[in-house]
Amino acid sequence: MRALQLITPGEPLEMREVADPIPGGDEVVIDVKAAGICSSDAHYREGFPQVGPLPLTLGHEVAGVVAAVGPEVAAFTPSDRVCVHYQVGCGRCEYCERRLEMFCPDGRMIGNGRPGGYAEQIMVPERNVIAIPGAVPVEHAAVMMCSSATSLHALRKGRVGAGETVAVFGVGGLGMSAIQLAFIAGAAQVFAVDIKQAKLDAAADLGAIPVDANGDPVAEILAAGGCDVAIDLVGSATVMRQCLDSLAPMGRAVAVGLTADTMAIGPYTDLVSGESEVIGTSDHTVGEIVELLGLAADGRLDLDRVVQRTVPLEEAAVNAALDDLVHFGDTIRTVIAM
Ligand SMILES: [Zn+2]
Ligand SMILES: [Zn+2]
Repeated sequence: MRALQLITPGEPLEMREVADPIPGGDEVVIDVKAAGICSSDAHYREGFPQVGPLPLTLGHEVAGVVAAVGPEVAAFTPSDRVCVHYQVGCGRCEYCERRLEMFCPDGRMIGNGRPGGYAEQIMVPERNVIAIPGAVPVEHAAVMMCSSATSLHALRKGRVGAGETVAVFGVGGLGMSAIQLAFIAGAAQVFAVDIKQAKLDAAADLGAIPVDANGDPVAEILAAGGCDVAIDLVGSATVMRQCLDSLAPMGRAVAVGLTADTMAIGPYTDLVSGESEVIGTSDHTVGEIVELLGLAADGRLDLDRVVQRTVPLEEAAVNAALDDLVHFGDTIRTVIAM
């Protein structure tokens, strides 16, 4: 089968012919129908954080149709529409038992530590396969696997409550979900911060208050009373600093994006005086994915505005979409459609 692989960090992905996966035991082989192109993939292609072993097929936002199952698989049969929880754990450790696979010491994420979805097929254990409710398109299910699920988890970790104010820094695939999910969680107002006018307009369409990050977003948010929860979806120490500085008393700044930068925190000035909290959040849980699929099926989570473009599984098109993410282009989410 064809698979789009990272061969050398810093270089474009390359199309390779690889062996078709053959399921044994509890494994499920899925014909990939949709694979979202995430900012993390652009980071992996650049070489930070390091992924492997190389060559590696990227892609961790994956949905499709079951092609074949191993003899121990009970819940799925060929032609079922499914999506993939990207953290594949050992299934036996204390974290896997609690379905917190992101902390499994032997865990491997698809498209990061094991083959991902930029390919005609993907193989994962049955416990990572989730049925797609009837009304939800595969392209939407795919982007929920990272963008929406990670946003939901971040809002939970930030403990967004009824009547609170949320600031979402970075209006990409995650941001567009985070805005909607913040309102679903009961937020009274949501600030959406970005440098791109097209993205600010898209956020405003969802009811968010657009804040142009080319100006002084911190001053603008503080002038409105500050926020209870600020989420950095950009992955930048500068943006995380802005999150912390935008908080109202007892506010929570949540770090989500990937970055190698560091930042200084004043124990008194940043934390004690306002009882501020700095919270890290990693990935999401399979239970959150099931919740999101339900919200999408009910029409409460609108991903039409998130999935703005589809491209074929081809070297040039996918590398160009990754380049667009590196340069903070206008497109919110591109999905490889097959
Ligand atoms: Zn992602
Ligand atoms: Zn485990």
